[in-house]
Amino acid sequence: MRQRTSTRSPSFGGSRERECPRCHREVDLPLGALCAACRREIDLRARRVARWVSLGATALFGAYAMAVLPTEQTARLVGAAATVVWFVVVRRVAFQMVRTWLEERGTGKRETGNA
Ligand SMILES: [Zn+2]
Repeated sequence: MRQRTSTRSPSFGGSRERECPRCHREVDLPLGALCAACRREIDLRARRVARWVSLGATALFGAYAMAVLPTEQTARLVGAAATVVWFVVVRRVAFQMVRTWLEERGTGKRETGNA
């Protein structure tokens, strides 16, 4: 009878990892990827930071818009719409930045600071 090889065959050319580079839990991942639990945790933290950053930036932007725009109703409406768009954009950008930073910090694949 022919002996079957294990389904858990060794990784191909080292392109997969046996443990998460961040929490060192045993998983089967593509090289450099984080496990689902780490990604969830990073997304949660990034979302929380992005929420506060965007709220602060939006408060400043809204105050500035109300200060410089004329007091006509149309101008106020445009200012309010711009403030909403500002909030959404800042939140998305902040989320992506914080998530990338946290992921790089977790995997240790940071660009070298050597000039
Ligand atoms: Zn992990």
